[in-house]
Amino acid sequence: MRVPAKVNLQLAVGPRREDGFHDLVNVFHAVSLFDEVTVREAPPRQPNPSGAGESASSGADTGVSVTAADPPEASACAGLTAGGGLGSHLARVPLDESNLAARAVALLAERTGRGSPVTVHLDKHIPVAGGMAGGSADAAAALLACDRLWGCDLPPRTLAGYAADLGSDVPFALMGATAVGMGRGEILRPLAAPGRLRWVFALSPHGLSTASVFGEYDRLRPDAPEPRLDPALATALAGGDPAALGAALTNDLQEAALSLLPELERTLKTGSGAGALGALVSGSGPTCAFLVGGVDEAEADGREAAVVAELEGSGLCEQVVSAYGDVPGATVL
Ligand code: ATP
Repeated sequence: MRVPAKVNLQLAVGPRREDGFHDLVNVFHAVSLFDEVTVREAPPRQPNPSGAGESASSGADTGVSVTAADPPEASACAGLTAGGGLGSHLARVPLDESNLAARAVALLAERTGRGSPVTVHLDKHIPVAGGMAGGSADAAAALLACDRLWGCDLPPRTLAGYAADLGSDVPFALMGATAVGMGRGEILRPLAAPGRLRWVFALSPHGLSTASVFGEYDRLRPDAPEPRLDPALATALAGGDPAALGAALTNDLQEAALSLLPELERTLKTGSGAGALGALVSGSGPTCAFLVGGVDEAEADGREAAVVAELEGSGLCEQVVSAYGDVPGATVL
């Protein structure tokens, strides 16, 4: 399976709800940074002395392994080469039943009663704890892979419901392309986004926990208004206008992410100063996203090269990666 990362074109965050979640207007955009997720039947176990049959798969008997290879479009920033790159993020990925991919396997087995033990291998290219929903992407891929492997062939609506139970960002990783998420982000409506966009992502050597960023948001914005889709963003997207879209990118969590990791402000200024059409923290951060143009724009070549060069030379980020969007969601290879 191949499954993309997301960047948020708009992330409007309402007040904290009684259940602890926040109402969101979350404009998701899938980009060409992909995790590859391989799910296989586990080798048969030794016969059980009690004679009982094999039980349905659970998170506990799902073997998870992880590797990372830096994508060809990636380059390390000055001064941060040694030990950097996505490989250094792998220590943050749990290999037990708390891995979101293992949780997806366990949930599908429990709901359908069709599970058999599996192994899941994650080849990670999406930054870990980077605000690009890498864990959610792996969960979506594992869910779809087991649905096919076990012959469940559930309708998309049922899979989307299971995905929402796994996490707010999981349904979008199944769907891909560009969509607005309402509720806590899981109620999706596709948005037309004609023309592909080119992006540069600055990966931070640090991770930010989503919970701590929302906590900081609650502290900074105790009277947050109800979230609304920004009409300027919707018009820019529908019109395929990268410059207008760049000017309309917003993220209500950005202030909280900058409060926890102030150096991100310099990263954003570096990319903007080099000519990016728009710059923002992706989701809860700390990855910073820079829109550099449409894929067919000749001048976007120069803009992308300038943004990449300035970020690489800044010493602020661990890695700089180019990508495009939108792209489809979780796909069987
Ligand atoms: P969010 O969806 O909240 O924006 P994120 O993109 O910032 O999340 P993830 O890469 O999804 O961050 O990881 C968040 C945490 O989830 C990690 O620190 C890690 O401990 C845990 N985790 C569980 N499963 C996975 C997985 N398959 N890949 C990465 N992290 C995982």
